[in-house]
Amino acid sequence: MRQKIVAGNWKMNGSLAGNAALLEGIVVGISGFSGVECVVCAPFPYLFQVQAKLADSPVLWGAQNLSQYDRGAYTGEVSASMLKDFGATHVIVGHSERRAIFGETSMIVAEKFRAAGDAGLIPILCVGESLSERESGITERIVGEQLDAVIDFAGVDALRSAVLAYEPVWAIGTGRTATPQQAQDVHRYLRARIASRSAEVAGKVSILYGGSVKPSNAGELFAMPDIDGGLVGGASLAASEFCEICRAAA
Ligand code: PEP
Repeated sequence: MRQKIVAGNWKMNGSLAGNAALLEGIVVGISGFSGVECVVCAPFPYLFQVQAKLADSPVLWGAQNLSQYDRGAYTGEVSASMLKDFGATHVIVGHSERRAIFGETSMIVAEKFRAAGDAGLIPILCVGESLSERESGITERIVGEQLDAVIDFAGVDALRSAVLAYEPVWAIGTGRTATPQQAQDVHRYLRARIASRSAEVAGKVSILYGGSVKPSNAGELFAMPDIDGGLVGGASLAASEFCEICRAAA
């Protein structure tokens, strides 16, 4: 049995007052079930608040980005060792917004992935195709190249303590979700691609689906054999929705 995981990506949203209510709602809301690992990925300035609010709860937490460098003259950057030092467990790596808006190449993503793993963080590695790439029929090539870049650099064994997230760019924040079968097809492909390097790792790694996951579609997505949970943006900002999605994965 692979670990079921639901991770919330708050993106650049939040305030001290709003986060307090959201975190309290999540802690109460997830207390009624088990069997799923719930993770909150918050903006850097709020990690201290997340750390304090989630300290005695089963909810894990982390960041949405990190530097590929360990220390030194990198103004504005945050290293993996700093996140680890502070108690974070997870960090999102290679989100499509980082790739598209901030110019993160597959090489940079691979370096960040390895930096996270080397520091003892669990990287949540995002891969996904754009709408034009899907319509051109090259989804598998795109996600395969994104995955290979990381495996070639960090080694397939690094996936033992990592999470993979398939996030079709056309489904992120658009309200347009991949059908469960569309998502399953790509998840199966990704697992097979990992299996070509190590069948054992492929069998163990959790692959999350991300892209407009909501309480209304989470159950049918998570019922697919290669979908092990979700990476959730918009719906992670409402405690009741996030908890319902977590429950659907439990
Ligand atoms: C995301 O940001 O990773 C995401 C999947 O967003 P949303 O759930 O809002 O589509």
